[in-house]
Amino acid sequence: MKVCIQRGSQEIGGSCVELESQSQRLLLDLGLPLNAEINDPKYLPQVRGLEGSDPTFQGILISHPHVDHFGLLAHIPDNIPVGMGAAARRILKAAKPFMPGNWPAPEQGWEYESEVPFDIGPFTITPFLVDHSAYDAYALLIEADGKRLFYSGDFRAHGRKSQLFDRIVQNPPKNIDVMLLEGSSLGRLDEDKQFPTESDIEEQFVDVFNVTNGLALVHCSAQNIDRVVSVLRASKRTGRKLVIDLYTAVVLEATGNKHIPQSDWGDVVLMVPQSQRVQIKKNGWFDKLRQHSRNRIFREKIHESPEKFTLLFRPLYQRDLTRGECLEGASFVYSQWEGYWERGEYDVVKRWLKKHGVQKQSIHTSGHASPADLKLFVEALKPNKVVPIHTFQPEQYEQLFPNVNTHGDGESWTV
Ligand SMILES: [Zn+2]
Repeated sequence: MKVCIQRGSQEIGGSCVELESQSQRLLLDLGLPLNAEINDPKYLPQVRGLEGSDPTFQGILISHPHVDHFGLLAHIPDNIPVGMGAAARRILKAAKPFMPGNWPAPEQGWEYESEVPFDIGPFTITPFLVDHSAYDAYALLIEADGKRLFYSGDFRAHGRKSQLFDRIVQNPPKNIDVMLLEGSSLGRLDEDKQFPTESDIEEQFVDVFNVTNGLALVHCSAQNIDRVVSVLRASKRTGRKLVIDLYTAVVLEATGNKHIPQSDWGDVVLMVPQSQRVQIKKNGWFDKLRQHSRNRIFREKIHESPEKFTLLFRPLYQRDLTRGECLEGASFVYSQWEGYWERGEYDVVKRWLKKHGVQKQSIHTSGHASPADLKLFVEALKPNKVVPIHTFQPEQYEQLFPNVNTHGDGESWTV
């Protein structure tokens, strides 16, 4: 089996790996680089067949629905099959109408079931469901030519699905020749430190909500389902209902999981921001709205008793909250990667908070395994070779793991 990391050997984002066996080829992920501000086709890697006319190109396997792993799918034709989890596919499709630009939502391709192998030409693929901040995320074991390559995807051991990590570590796939291992946390966390768990995050939310006299705002991604669960649990514990918009409602529904918060739960309410109302009218999404309107409220309700609500904040709520005078005694928790905030993506929100005298606080934990957990993982799977990917610190791998081999972007090598 031949391998070429097209992108990702020394960066986080834009992950893409090309595999070849018996002249047949596959891609693992087709992500948008982190520094690419728009979904620009100029970042497409030079892979034969991506234009859809090469029969030796079998298709693309996406590890999980984060743009740094699927973002460039927007630029490939529909006839190329794209594999992913069924819920991941539903989430991309549900999100699409709400997203600006060319949001990819591939219709056809393989559907993963954890630990159930399937064949693509000479390749046998076994997906393993993993704990990550994206819902329905997988590591992928690829077998071909009698060799076994394990692609970690993005994963962690401190989320709400940490048992998935324990499960692989206790019952690991054997005889791994090569492990392509993500190392997002290297350089960001010391070897002897751990990230807070998602349950720790829940406790921190409880502390903030308890001392907030007005509305509690939490700015996080609706697609970070673990986080939405933490916010809802903390809200219930502090006598608050969780306010979501229509986008969040359809994303939660798309998980297809009855244990994940839904718009018709007693402790969840829908409040549609004005700009989304315009969108609904323009696109005729009345069925969608009706379907999620069982617990619908309007901003007057929040104005009356803001202390009874936590709002899953999205910037499009700003105008409604200002006009509805909902910010008296409010708190604002930023609960996603600090980098977005620092590089200015939310400067409008920053100014808005300042104007209303609301302080920003941060409560967050990483979607990626700590260096110590990465070590546990490698010790359990015992690969013959560890190859860095999805990291800014490939040179740190040798200090942490045995049998490290570094391969640069565009370099072709054999397993
Ligand atoms: Zn990633």
